[in-house]
Order: sequence, then C-alpha cells, then structure tokens
Amino acid sequence: MPEPADFLFVHAHLFTMEGDGVGYIEDGAVAVRSGRIIDVGPSTALSTRFVATEVIDASHHALLPGLIDAHMHTPWAVVRGVAQDVAHWMQKGLAPYARHLHREAALAGAWLNVLEALKAGTTTLGDYAHPIEGWADVFAAVGVRAVLTATINALPPGQMANWGIGELYPLDDVVGEQSIRQAVDFAAEWHGAEDGRITVMYGPQGADMLTLDQLRHVKRLAAAEGLMLHMHVAQGDREIDQMLKRYGKRTPAFLEQIGYLDDQLLAVHLTEATEDETAQIAYSGASMVLCSGSIGIIDGIVPPAVAFRSAGGLVALGSDQAAGNNCNNIFNEMKLTAIFNKIKYRDPTVLPAWQVLRMATIEGAQAIGMGDEIGSIRRGKKADLILVDLHALNLMPVLTAPIRNIVPNLVYAATGHEVDLVMVDGRILVREGRVLAVDEAAVREEVQQRAQEVADAVKRDPVHLDMALLQAMEEGNL
Ligand SMILES: [Zn+2]
Repeated sequence: MPEPADFLFVHAHLFTMEGDGVGYIEDGAVAVRSGRIIDVGPSTALSTRFVATEVIDASHHALLPGLIDAHMHTPWAVVRGVAQDVAHWMQKGLAPYARHLHREAALAGAWLNVLEALKAGTTTLGDYAHPIEGWADVFAAVGVRAVLTATINALPPGQMANWGIGELYPLDDVVGEQSIRQAVDFAAEWHGAEDGRITVMYGPQGADMLTLDQLRHVKRLAAAEGLMLHMHVAQGDREIDQMLKRYGKRTPAFLEQIGYLDDQLLAVHLTEATEDETAQIAYSGASMVLCSGSIGIIDGIVPPAVAFRSAGGLVALGSDQAAGNNCNNIFNEMKLTAIFNKIKYRDPTVLPAWQVLRMATIEGAQAIGMGDEIGSIRRGKKADLILVDLHALNLMPVLTAPIRNIVPNLVYAATGHEVDLVMVDGRILVREGRVLAVDEAAVREEVQQRAQEVADAVKRDPVHLDMALLQAMEEGNL
C-alpha cells in the first residue's frame, strides 16, 4: 500500500547537500508530510511508494535545501543604497539616517527585505535589529524561518553622528541595562514561536558597544537559557581602535579573557582579525558569518573565512544590510565569496562553487546551531526546499556528463530570480516566482513612502551636511 504524502517532488536535479559534497541525485524525488521530509531518493522509487496530495513535476529544475542568510539587518533596507563608496561608513554614511529611522520606516524596510530574500530562495533569515513592536510579526506573517537577534548596546540613541572619528564613544549604563531587559523580554516572547519557526539569539552588538559588566551579564543569560550569542567581532579598524583605547587589548584577546570564545558564539565579520586571531576563534568552537558583499563595499576587505575553515571552523553566509551591501540575496553572496577569495589568494581553486553552496546550506545551518533540522535534504529534517529553474537563459544549457555544470552555474550565473518555488516547514510560500500570502504592491508602496519620510527628515537635519556623499551629489556623480 502506498503511503500518503502532502507533496511529492519528482524528476528534479536533486542536490541533497548530504555527505561531504553536494549529494546529487539524478531524476530525484522528495516526499513531504506535516512539514517534514519523509523520504528522499530516485523518482521511480518514490512515485510508487507515495500517494501525494500534490505531485510537483520538478523537471529541468534544481531542488535544493532552502538557503540560509545568517546575518541581516532588514530594517535598513528602507535606506538601500544611500551610503556606498565612502570612508567611515557608519559615522559619515549611515549615522544621519539612523537618527531618523522611525518605527514605521524600519518595519517597511523589514517587509521589503524579507520578501526580497524569500523570493531569492532564502528560507532561514538571521535578522539583527532593535526589537521594535511588530518586527518579529513580519517573519511570522510571511511564514519564513527566522533566527532573530535583538540588538543589545549601551550607545545613547541618535548620537552616532556626533562621534568624532578616533574618539571613544560614550557607553551609558541605563541604556545598556534597558537594552538587555528588552532582549530578555523578546526572547521570552519569541524563542520557539510559530511552531518553532522563530528562534532567538542574544545580540551584544560588539565588544566595543557594551560595558564590561553588561557583556558578562549577557553571557550569563545566554548560557543559562541555552541561546547563542550573535555578535559583530573585530568589525573594522574602528572597533579595534575603541578596544585598544578602552581595554588595551584587541577584540579576540579581550573576548578570550571574558569567556566569550566558545561554541555558543556566532562571530560576524572578523574583518580585522589576523590569521592567528582567526584560528584562535575557530579553535574555540565558535562559528563565523561571512558577509562578502557588505564588507567588500564598506571596508574593501575580504574577511578571513578561508583561514577560519582551515582551522576547522564553520562558516555561514550573511547579506548584512542594504545600506551597505545593497541587496540581500544569498546567490549574490555565494558568487562574491567564491570570486573574492580566488582573487585574494590569486588561486582559482580556492572556495570552489560546491563549497560556497555548502556554506549557504548545510554548513550555514551547522554554524547557527540548526544542522540537525535544516540545511540538507534528509529524511526527518524540516521541509525547507527551493526549486531553481534551470531553463532560465542564464542557466542553460544543462549538462550532466562528462562534467555536470549545474552547481557552478548556480553559484556563478544564477541571480536568485530563477527561484520558482520556495517551501518552508512544508508550506509553499513562493510559487512561479510570486509570494503567495503577501500583497507585494502594498509593501512597495509603503516602503517608498516611509523611505521618503526618512530622506526628508535627514535633509532637514543639519547633520546631513557632514555626509560623505554630498560631494558626489554636487559633482553630478549620483
Ligand atoms: Zn551586522
């Protein structure tokens, strides 16, 4: 007797990402029931084993695990593209906008960014933001998987634009304590919400942005609650300069001293980490998030992910924020990651396509502590799946022998617009490239209006006169 299934995908170029490679199955099939993958194998076998409510013919499609974006700041999408090609990005580019990013604007940015990522095949979104009312509800409403980190810092709000370059910025005890309380409340409300689709990490923003007592407090909370710490580490020369002035130590040595280096830490960027510091963090069991696009644009640096992996560490990919990176698309990150590192090492064999695809799937899942549930297509795992149309012009032709060209084309030629179908937790969220449960036109209209409000407020604020890009405007270059 055939078994029942909710969905049966058949005739796919199936990349399970199981084993040490990409786990390819030609003419592959996947059966899904009650949100989980219940079987994986050749189409001929599964077609007789299951009777499905819906059979999805995945001919000329790649069937992959949903992609994982481990580090985003979705509210910033509302000011996409306002701070590129500048030095001192945070103070001279972003800060004037940060002062005027009101709640509705931040939410509009989150909506935009979540839809953008979802349509490009991202099923797990690792977002990092101030826990404003309604933020987590965006992820719940869209139905994506989300790992949410409420920003914890002790920085007096709205002051960033006044920081002098090279001066110690002020840390405020009251702001920090309030920020910790908000994060605790947020975790209590959202960790495990939406049938477990939403989970939470603690987010000390950076070692330079909380007091020592607060850093210790957050570590104790995370350890007690079994939550990971999601933290920017060695994020630019600005942070290292602050740490040397405040503590006389570079960030990695400081974190080691206060007990932060262990497998509970998800360390983002490592932009300024030396090879030794990178290895030290990897050996500790901590994981890394690599944001190739954003760090390339903001700092002109290729972070040390290759060294981190060589030292045995796990690396996830992240798109960071659209005010720095301009897009939140893991296909873009895979391509940039592979190419940037070949250039960095002047070696075309560095980070081949299959390895960055693993970083976007199974290795990313392991890095964020979810490797048992997502990141590969295996019986018992959650049904987070995407179908990529290999008949898109830029992915044609499809060859399977003597050399199979699908994985290189997914990494070097795909843009994300070839994603036809996205399933999360066994629910189809995107079909024929359209988000099913969301009025996309309304999201577009809202974000345009809110972004204009923010831009108008920045223009009225004298602080805007210090923006690095004003000169480019005056010279007719924008
Ligand atoms: Zn970040």
